[in-house]
Amino acid sequence: MSDTNASTSAPPDRPKFSFPKPTGESTTHSGNCHCGAIRFTFTLSPPLHEYPVISCNCSYCTRAGALLVYPHREDFVLEKPTAAEGGFDADVVGKYGFGDGTASHRFCRKCGSSVFTVCVPGMWEKFVGPGAKEMLPVNLRMVTGLDLDALNLRKVDGWGLRGPQYELKD
Ligand SMILES: [Zn+2]
Repeated sequence: MSDTNASTSAPPDRPKFSFPKPTGESTTHSGNCHCGAIRFTFTLSPPLHEYPVISCNCSYCTRAGALLVYPHREDFVLEKPTAAEGGFDADVVGKYGFGDGTASHRFCRKCGSSVFTVCVPGMWEKFVGPGAKEMLPVNLRMVTGLDLDALNLRKVDGWGLRGPQYELKD
């Protein structure tokens, strides 16, 4: 049987992932999934209008429609579900991983929104280099009052970054 699944073909060349160094300036944002079961705030440096927003071509981000920024873990606050409700591990917060399993994509089990990603401790040091801070990738599309036209979009190559290569199994 021939393989007619276009998503298994290699994508066009794009720049590799890179992350900006924090500057003295920052912006703070709030966001939520469509139904509001998941709500959060985070602070980002450089500020959003300067921040290179990642449009990743990996097999997951293309499907989730994610536009990503990478606040430091300590600058991200999950407002809902609250810690008492289970926080990141609350029932309403779905988890999905693939490839090497180091990134746990979190989505709302009520409304299906793809909201943010929690990575295993130490993953960022391996990925970015020694001393790299833990980051918590956020899907900017969940952010309130987002002006898509004002974003500094950067198309990067995330395809195959966390092998094995994506292939839809029967
Ligand atoms: Zn929801």
